[in-house]
Amino acid sequence: MLGAGIIKGMAETARNFIGSYTDANLLVTVEYPEQRLPLKESTRNFPFLVFDGEDWQKGLRCVACQICEKECPPQCIFITKDAAKKPDYMGKLQFQPKVFDIDTSVCMSCQICVEVCPFEAIKMDTEFELSTDNRFGDLLLNKEQLARSNEHYHKIHPTEAAEVDERLAGEKAKAEAKAKAAAAAAAAKPVLPPKATAP
Ligand code: SF4
Ligand code: SF4
Repeated sequence: MLGAGIIKGMAETARNFIGSYTDANLLVTVEYPEQRLPLKESTRNFPFLVFDGEDWQKGLRCVACQICEKECPPQCIFITKDAAKKPDYMGKLQFQPKVFDIDTSVCMSCQICVEVCPFEAIKMDTEFELSTDNRFGDLLLNKEQLARSNEHYHKIHPTEAAEVDERLAGEKAKAEAKAKAAAAAAAAKPVLPPKATAP
């Protein structure tokens, strides 16, 4: 029918207009900042560094492998390695970052750093109230400013964080079982007497 598309479009507009007064799901405008809509789990803004436990310095998962620094398209991650190593979640000694900065004025929130990190150490935050008039000072975040607890990760991305925890716990259990089996095999090995030497 001629004009059917226009009628359909107008009906949809009318449905959304009326719904914006009556249906909370269609209410697209709130009086921010007094009112806030809950953020979706898939929301992402800038990256943060995950730490386990209470102490952000001891618990940082990052091992300064610099993969994210190499892969970041606009090159806004800056990392230098610390000479001192610290144990990771499996107890293995690993490098740690001495410097880990992200220039959020350049970051384009692509999440590539998160996808390439083999250590589940960097994730996307949902914080968006970061505006400042100091373009060069306040938007260059150092590792202390980037550090967020695993509890924070669970709060903003609960499904993803639970999957990561389960995977890391599985890897840890596997490594512990392997070490136990190796220790048992070494203990079961017969100790041969020393060979007699010719007089
Ligand atoms: S989100 Fe993208 S642009 Fe931002 S630091 Fe990560 S890789 Fe770089
Ligand atoms: S955040 Fe991940 S990829 Fe980047 S340096 Fe640390 S461990 Fe490596």
